[in-house]
Amino acid sequence: MVNIANNLETVKASIEKAALAAGRKPDAVRLVAVTKTHPPEFIEEAIAAGHLLYGENRVQESESKWPLLKEKYVNVRLHLIGPLQSNKAASAVRLFDVIETVDRQKLARALARHMDEIGRRPGCFIQVNTGAEPQKAGILPDQADDFIRQCHDDFQLPVRGLMCIPPVDEEPSLHFALLRELAERNGVEELSMGMSADFEIAVQFGATLVRVGTAVFGTRGDYHKKDNHHQPG
Ligand SMILES: *Cc1c(COP(=O)(O)O)cnc(C)c1O
Repeated sequence: MVNIANNLETVKASIEKAALAAGRKPDAVRLVAVTKTHPPEFIEEAIAAGHLLYGENRVQESESKWPLLKEKYVNVRLHLIGPLQSNKAASAVRLFDVIETVDRQKLARALARHMDEIGRRPGCFIQVNTGAEPQKAGILPDQADDFIRQCHDDFQLPVRGLMCIPPVDEEPSLHFALLRELAERNGVEELSMGMSADFEIAVQFGATLVRVGTAVFGTRGDYHKKDNHHQPG
């Protein structure tokens, strides 16, 4: 059995320790608990332990579990941390409080339009493909300055931060340092970087948000599989 409350405490203690070691304030870093593949009961356990900030990587999976949870627990906040197709932009604007994966013009334009239509403005992070990996989402580092400016000035998106997922087989610190440099150069405040395996390094390099799944909820579940999408009640 996974002890979610214990795990939350352990991860938060590690974040604080890493922040203090880096000369940062412990409350300068927030934990986004990543609940993808896990059922609502796991999430309610984390909420009962007092945790309010969550991340999901798929719109469809999120729509099957979060509307009821958000109704029941009005203080929870939900971040989208996975790739977003333009045709799901409206759903994302309705459900998420922050969209961390804005990475191309077409999506930025769609988000801007839906925010106007829906009258809801989730904070936006620009995802940067720091390793320039062909299969990975994110704007390329050498196009990031222009894209950030465009999102802000042309599309008037509420750009709050940058996000990255370093290549699995590389030293993450180089990627964290690059993301931080891009943020500083563009006057962007928040940095979403670091996962279960490397969040302490990310904190050392200035992360303001770390996205941690496995270290809190254990190995991935199977809630994302279509057959498991039941409507409660
Ligand atoms: C799943 C996921 C995480 C969390 O990964 P863990 O290794 O389980 O902590 C973080 N960020 C993104 C974008 C993810 O998809």
